[in-house]
Amino acid sequence: MREKIFKEQIEEAKTIAICSHVSPDGDALGSSLGLGLCLEAMGKEVIYIKNDDYPKNFMFLKQKELLKDQAPRPVDLFIVTDVAAESRIGDGLEFFKLAKNSLCIDHHRTNSGFCKHNIIDPDASSTCQLVSELLVENKMDIPKDAATMLYLGMVTDTNRFLYESTESKTLRLAAHLIDQGAEKQLIHNSLYESTNKDYLLLEGEVLSQTKYICGNKISISTLSLDQLEKYKLSQAETDPLVSVLKSIEGVEVSCLIKENAEDFQKVSLRSKEDIDVSKIALEFGGGGHIRASGFPLEGLNRQEAMEIMTERLEKLCDGKGNIISK
Ligand code: 5GP
Ligand code: MN
Repeated sequence: MREKIFKEQIEEAKTIAICSHVSPDGDALGSSLGLGLCLEAMGKEVIYIKNDDYPKNFMFLKQKELLKDQAPRPVDLFIVTDVAAESRIGDGLEFFKLAKNSLCIDHHRTNSGFCKHNIIDPDASSTCQLVSELLVENKMDIPKDAATMLYLGMVTDTNRFLYESTESKTLRLAAHLIDQGAEKQLIHNSLYESTNKDYLLLEGEVLSQTKYICGNKISISTLSLDQLEKYKLSQAETDPLVSVLKSIEGVEVSCLIKENAEDFQKVSLRSKEDIDVSKIALEFGGGGHIRASGFPLEGLNRQEAMEIMTERLEKLCDGKGNIISK
């Protein structure tokens, strides 16, 4: 059924604009560029919408020149990939409003389906997995560069195929992408063997200022604009930090408050097993996945945000150092 929707909407369109979310990650870039390249191979005119800068370690993408600023214009179909909510479309919003038709392809369980057509699969480990599946089910060609893009998102959203969301199907689809020529070593070297020295120093600083509550089962830290400036790093380059806070022995839930402006913070939450952090994100107007979600906190400074988050996360605790699901 869903593969039919995918095929029909694409077949009907000549011009397609494709976009992912603000503060793009590997899955956002991989799914939008990967799908776009497949659509171009089918003879479609594709406009790639640039949303923010992307992490420097993705700069190996030959496709980076595709992401140029474009004036909004009406297209037959607007596709959004890996976008959980309309508020996350960023610069794609004008295209979205002008488009005749829209298709949302996503794996966030908090996605309410804001497009005309919506293919949402919360069980897919990445949007790149879902896109690959839709392409394979429809026997559509995946050119080499598209395979590399799709593989990128599968690797990053599963943390190198380590997360529980990795199914046998995930690995079969990844194998198919390798068969299509996906440059897996290039991805591996660029992402995991090229860590910025300054990022590692910042990681140490953030770790040393981390607060632990609930018998050390919850870690909470902040990242200030001054620290970004000190280490000459972009917000995007600090994406792994919240997962580092989660990887600590005994920690079940991690929280990182990232200062975007003095009175505007972005909160990232991660959990290892039982706790559904998307519930907390929804309470604050954000969203995401069971084990990875986020939201903005407006009108609060870092310290105030720290207090609010400490108070909220304390509620996950029974007061005796045990996590309870709430
Ligand atoms: P991160 O903590 O890396 O920013 O985001 C983790 C997950 O939560 C991602 O899948 C992201 O799409 C989702 N997310 C982060 N911030 C927001 C937000 O403000 N709104 C919604 N709906 N989802 C978000
Ligand atoms: Mn994703």
